[in-house]
Amino acid sequence: MNLIQKISTPIQYVKTVGPQRASMLQKLGIYTVRDMLYYFPRRYEERKLIEFVNECSQDDTVSVRGTVLGSQDLKLRQGLTATKVALSDGMNIFYAVWFNQPHIKKQIAPGLTITVTGKVDQRYGAVQIRVADFELNNSSVAENYWCSIVPVYALSEKINQKFLRGLIKTCLEEYTSEQEEFIPENLIKKYRLLPLNRSLLWMHQPQNILETEKARRRLIFEELFLLQLLLAARKRTITRKLKFFTYSDKNEILKKFLNNLSFGLTPAQSRVWQEIMTDMHRSVPMYRLLQGDVGSGKTVISTLALLKAAENGLQGALMVPTEILAEQHYLFLKRYMEPLGINVGLLTGKMKKAEKNMAFQLIESGQMQIVIGTHALIQENIAFKHLAMAVIDEQHRFGVRQRATLQDKGICPDMLVMTATPIPRTLAMTLYGDLDISVIDQLPPGRKPIKTHVIYENKLPDTYEFMRKQIRIGRQAYIICPLVEESEHVESQAAIDLALELSEGELADFSVGLLHGRMKSELKEEVMTKFRLGEIDALVTTTVIEVGVDVPNATVMVILDADRFGLAQLHQLRGRVGRGLEQSYCILVANPKTDEARARLAAMHRSEDGFYLAEQDLRIRGPGEFCGTRQSGLPDLKVADLIRDWKILEVARQEAIDLLASDPELKKPENEALLREIRTRFPDSVQFAHIG
Ligand code: ADP
Ligand code: MG
Repeated sequence: MNLIQKISTPIQYVKTVGPQRASMLQKLGIYTVRDMLYYFPRRYEERKLIEFVNECSQDDTVSVRGTVLGSQDLKLRQGLTATKVALSDGMNIFYAVWFNQPHIKKQIAPGLTITVTGKVDQRYGAVQIRVADFELNNSSVAENYWCSIVPVYALSEKINQKFLRGLIKTCLEEYTSEQEEFIPENLIKKYRLLPLNRSLLWMHQPQNILETEKARRRLIFEELFLLQLLLAARKRTITRKLKFFTYSDKNEILKKFLNNLSFGLTPAQSRVWQEIMTDMHRSVPMYRLLQGDVGSGKTVISTLALLKAAENGLQGALMVPTEILAEQHYLFLKRYMEPLGINVGLLTGKMKKAEKNMAFQLIESGQMQIVIGTHALIQENIAFKHLAMAVIDEQHRFGVRQRATLQDKGICPDMLVMTATPIPRTLAMTLYGDLDISVIDQLPPGRKPIKTHVIYENKLPDTYEFMRKQIRIGRQAYIICPLVEESEHVESQAAIDLALELSEGELADFSVGLLHGRMKSELKEEVMTKFRLGEIDALVTTTVIEVGVDVPNATVMVILDADRFGLAQLHQLRGRVGRGLEQSYCILVANPKTDEARARLAAMHRSEDGFYLAEQDLRIRGPGEFCGTRQSGLPDLKVADLIRDWKILEVARQEAIDLLASDPELKKPENEALLREIRTRFPDSVQFAHIG
């Protein structure tokens, strides 16, 4: 039996385990020997090994060996018994103390030699050690842990450190061997990686911290390399198909559109557009993520892609998460497209049945060349004549399946997914390792940094005074009501109340608008139109305007109870202002009560850079929480950290791509072990079903 088969042995069959302990181990996610070997210590405890107790001082944690002289149980008070064992180190007598562990006395008979580890207490004259851990000198497990660094594992009920350490020792000795390795030899050499067996050994039984670091480095590489292979294989399956359409490079209508536009593309926009256009001209479908901070101008890029499809007699679709946004994009596209003779349509859930049916027909016949819509676009009964360009805006708001459903509306269409939620590049590479990434890393010219202030509620009157001044010079403002996660109803009610209060009080001289999630679609649209036209001065609203909304004349963003919002959300909301040439302001009204909330507000005050903020957010919350990593379907990472280990991640990605280029199905004999490892690790992965 080779290693990979051996370490797939169910944990139950390892000696000393059995069915009962096996079920306890399963609670820790340990089903097989492999799981056990990859159950890494949560931390290591450094132990000071001393020979004689007079070498230690108060509160040191030490390990010391002694011969048992005698023992005694002391009842200290109700429910607290101490077992006090007298020991000799050969020079001094000292005491080891256990609390509420009466069975200890039976194990420790006078004359035995034991090693005790624990904190030193010298307050009562003789040295006393409060035992955290001990080894009987002649037990088999003992010797290995009689070292200065000891692994500490996360435990569950009925599984203790000693049992786990012993079990891991058995697994290491009986189920692993020096020869086994699945990472290709050239990579082991190139990156000077530790062999598998030694890495596992050094993780669990290190002689010093340096060993754990070397072991960890290999295991991080291993984890990221396998993950990247999975993603690269997925990408190869996608891009192996061929498109059924081609593009001419005349771009006549496209050029007209660019001429009509009131602005020129920024260098970053031009570069990104070139990348997309190059992809469109390829025979394999594009699969690209367009990343750009709020306000960086992604819409115009997607418009170019959609228009290019239309100009070539094909269809384009743009899917967005909210009706407000669908409407906004529709108005923008219609304004520019209709004069060019391109037919643009809208499809949302709230449209009347007759309107919808009409749209369905036009989509099916191909007359509607560009369709903008919400989730309504991916309904079953919609069929495109020839969908060639599928764009998803604010893609983090959609699930993997929804993305795929839109894609399936065409035959291998080009896909462009856009996000304003900034994701650090390294994380994006993993989350979307199967996508190419384009980044707009530059804002349109003339934008001034938004001035952000964090204030207490008692300063609100000053804020309204400031808002009135801004409105008087022609600007507009948003006021965001507190986030109420439990109920949209309560949240909307708060907005209704506040709008009323302001229109009779602080903003009585101005036109106050109201927009919340429970309003009818028509009404929402009406309000947005009025706000866009400047007929509403101050818009009291909720997070319904969080993404995408673009009214460049708005310069004041007030967020009430800002400490309740997440960092990504605050950044998105702030991104609703600072979209024009005027100076914009963001006022965060908050009384933060937790360190996390304070950290978020401080980060908002400090920076306007979405990428920086995303990294802060990751630091504060961890990658799992961030922008739906959980739903991304990626396997959990055990040792790697996508932010900290970005260098290894990039290397692993490149190596994975190169390896699959030379051996796409991992069929070469030297990659056999690797293929087996991937299949064992990702048994449910459809991506590898096609391999081998
Ligand atoms: P986002 O990337 O957040 O979707 P938008 O596409 O909504 O950003 O663009 C934000 C604003 O910037 C819009 O009003 C848009 O018309 C404007 N804009 C986009 N590109 C440019 C540019 N190159 N020069 C000037 N303004 C631009
Ligand atoms: Mg946008």
